[in-house]
Order: sequence, then structure tokens, then C-alpha cells
Amino acid sequence: MSVKNEPTFRESVDLMFNRAVSLMDLPPGLEEKIRVCNATYTVRFGVRLRGHIQTFTGYRSVHSEHMEPVKGGIRYANSVNQDEVEALAALMTYKCALVEAPFGGSKGGLCIDPREYDEHELEQITRRFAYELAKRDLIHPSQNVPAPDMGTGEREMAWIADQYARMNTTDINAKACVTGKPLNAGGIAGRVEATGRGVQYALQEFFRDARDIEQAGMQGTLDGKTVVVQGLGNVGYHAAKFLSEEDGCKIVGVIERDGAITNDDGINIENLREWIIKHGGVKGYPDGSYTENGAAVLETECDILVPAAMEGVINLSNAERIKAPLIIEAANGPVTAGADEILRKKGTVIIPDMYANAGGVTVSYFEWVKNLSHIRFGRMQRRQEEARHQLVVDQLEELSKAMGNSWTLTPDFKQKYLRGAGELELVRSGLDDTMRIAYQSMRETWHEREDVQDLRTAAYLVSIGKVASSYRAKGL
Ligand code: NAD
Repeated sequence: MSVKNEPTFRESVDLMFNRAVSLMDLPPGLEEKIRVCNATYTVRFGVRLRGHIQTFTGYRSVHSEHMEPVKGGIRYANSVNQDEVEALAALMTYKCALVEAPFGGSKGGLCIDPREYDEHELEQITRRFAYELAKRDLIHPSQNVPAPDMGTGEREMAWIADQYARMNTTDINAKACVTGKPLNAGGIAGRVEATGRGVQYALQEFFRDARDIEQAGMQGTLDGKTVVVQGLGNVGYHAAKFLSEEDGCKIVGVIERDGAITNDDGINIENLREWIIKHGGVKGYPDGSYTENGAAVLETECDILVPAAMEGVINLSNAERIKAPLIIEAANGPVTAGADEILRKKGTVIIPDMYANAGGVTVSYFEWVKNLSHIRFGRMQRRQEEARHQLVVDQLEELSKAMGNSWTLTPDFKQKYLRGAGELELVRSGLDDTMRIAYQSMRETWHEREDVQDLRTAAYLVSIGKVASSYRAKGL
């Protein structure tokens, strides 16, 4: 989505990059080396469907190879184009650096509306696309590792992994060629929820610091905050679900392709999701009011706005009217450079995409490590940990008996304490740690440098600094 007189998505990313770089002391040559996209491969391939050959156009862009493999999702949408893929690849470079996932940045896309094809057709198309990319090492466990993005999910990742394995029958690490796979095909527990979970952890960390809350002109904790979410897909659904079910937030608006549902008393996310799956949109959902002009609901009064659908939705045409004091960019690039400028002047706090939706790549990193180590996380330690905890509990209960049972351990404590961490608990713990540490690095820059007025600039400064050190270490 782009509005007249606004830069394209890639230009927007470059503008934001330039703003940050102007505050750094990088040699101009290195600055340019980091900014530019190393290569973009365009492929056109034919697949015989419904009796005739259809030609598809796909891209895989590699933004930076300061670390390898490079990493980034594959998007299926009619709107996919080179500019968008390159912008998203650049964001991946900065995102991976910020959360210390040891990857360079990449992104892929196929111009297709997946809803127009049945499962068998999609499998044929995906396998053919994967074949074209794998043939050129643009899918490879040690060079380029895709993941899901808009319009793709576990199913497509499983096809890609299988296609790569068929082409590389002796590669013992074949499963690590792509992440976001289903558990039974080498995936990891917690990957599907990861990006939404990361959005939740990001907001939790934001509300841990009084200075940040004050900067947004807010008060209190996450509990009771009103939230509007755009896009109830993978990222938006999980973020809204966790925020409402675990942190006490009230989801007062959900915007989807066909319009929006609002309800000041809060929307039950599970019920709405089921409705969307059954009816193909939000229209007709009984527990709230329906508005056909979904985008207008972005301008509703609420505490937190979560754009989780697509880029460019907050732009020069509506930025002035956005009322939420806090925006968390769950989608990539939802706020254009022009809108960012307006919102910053208004004092809106924006938790930027490169950090806010990094939960996906973080857990993808864990999945890749799991595939390379060929063992599930927690398999070696879990029972040993439980046995050691049991020893402590037994001793305490002995002691309690000796003291005449004057105190006891509650069953709830015992249950929680005795449970060793399985893969899901470890993944969530690793993700929480990553999101906290990355936020703290942005926060430090934001509050300690007078020339840094927003979290986006802080995020760029931290990540560009890390990419620059990698290049310097290579002698560039
Ligand atoms: P998805 O396809 O699962 O969901 C997108 C949702 O947005 C769908 O429900 C769709 O109906 C809705 N939507 C599309 N156009 C819309 C519009 N104009 N208005 C309102 N709703 C609209 O995709 P996703 O994986 O959740 O990705 C969403 C965003 O998050 C993208 O920007 C993507 O790049 C980013 N992201 C995703 C991941 C991931 O792990 N899936 C990781 C990082 C970033």
C-alpha cells in the first residue's frame, strides 16, 4: 500500500537507515556497503495447472552476507515485487543483528494469491519455486535459510524442506535448510506462536520501565490497556490472544481485509478467529459492531495499536489522526517514513518492526540450531532436573515432618517446581531473554543519547553498529 508523494517501502527503510547513520561515525564507504542490497534473483517458472502452463514470478533477495547463512521469510501475495522484497531483506539484516541471531538478511516472495489455488496446486508451485532457489544455493542450510511470512506457513515450509532433501540426498543437515516447519518435519515447539509471543514479551518489557511509560504519556501496567489489532493472521492472532488472555489487555478493535469489528467491552479473540476461519472474514460476527471501512478503525482511541497485517498502512494520509500513544509494529514496515516523522512530532511512541516482530527469527534460530544438533531441546536435562528438584522437595518434607508439620509445601508450588523444562518452556525462556536484552539495548541508546529521540533510531543505531563491527572484523 502506498500513497502519492510517499517513498516506496525500500526508500522508506533507506530513509530511516540514513537518519540513524547520520548520528554515527561510519566511513561513507562502509555506510553504503551496509545499506545496499547485495543481490536479488528473479525467477520466472512455469507449472502445468488445470490443463495449461501458468508462469509465476518469484524473488529471493540477499541484503547482507556479513554473517551466513542469510535468513528471511518467503511471502506469497499478489503485491510482491522487487522493491518490497529488498526492503524486507534489509530489515532482516538489522533485525538479526539487533536480537543477536547469527544471520545475514534475506527475503523471498512469490507473486501469487494463495487463496486462488487448492492444496495440491500450491504444493506443485511451492516445490517448483523451491527447486529454482535450491539449485542456486538460495535455499541451503549454511547459506540461505527461508522461513514463513505472509501467505505461507508450516505446510509450505515442510514442502520446501522435502524438496531440498530430495535434491541433496546426502546432506545430513538438510532439515536446517528452512525453518518454521511443522514439529513432525523437524520443526520446534513454539515457532508458530513465536512472532506474536515476541510482541507480547516486547510490550511486557516496555511496561517494566517508568521512563518509557511516561514517554508515551501512559500510566500503570499492561493490565487493562485497550488494544486495536490489524490483521488476525499468524502474528496478530497470537499477539492479541496472549495480550488478552495472559496480560489483561482488552482488544477493542480487530481490523481484517473485509472490515473491522469493534467492541468496547473487549473481543474474544478465539471466538473471532473461529468465525473468520468459518466465514472468510469478520463481517457478521455477532459480538461487536462491524465497520466496512476497516482502515478507519486504526484511528480509534486506544492505548496500544498493533498493525500486524502489511506495510504502509499508517502513512501521510492518516498519521495525523492516529490517536494511540503507543504503536507496536508487529508487521514489517506498517508505518511509512513520512508517517513516522508526523507521529514522532506528536509524541507517539513506536516500538519498531525490526525489534517488535523479531520473535519469529529468534525461534527460527533455535529451530536451525536444533536441526544442526539433531536433538530436541531439553531431552538430556529434563528428567535429571526433575530428579534434583524432587530431592529438595523430599528433604523439605522430611524437615517439615521433623518440625511437627508446622508448615507444608503447597501442591501448586510442588507441581510447578518439580516440572523440568521441556522444549516449549526452553524456547519461550530463550525468546523472552532475547526480547528483553534487545529492548534494553535500544532503551539505553534512546535514553542516554541526547540526539536519539525515538526507539526506531535507537534500534538502527544498535544494529548498524553490530553489522559494522562484523564487516570491520572481516577487514572491510
Ligand atoms: P498472515 O498471512 O498469517 O496474516 C496476515 C493477516 O492480515 C491475514 O489475516 C489477512 O487477512 C490480514 N490482512 C491482509 N491484508 C489486510 C488489510 N489490508 N487490512 C487488514 N487485514 C489484512 O501473515 P503473518 O505471518 O501474520 O504476517 C503479518 C505481518 O507480520 C507481515 O508484515 C509479515 O512480514 C510480518 N512478520 C511475520 C512473521 C511470521 O513469523 N509469520 C515474522 C516477522 C514478521
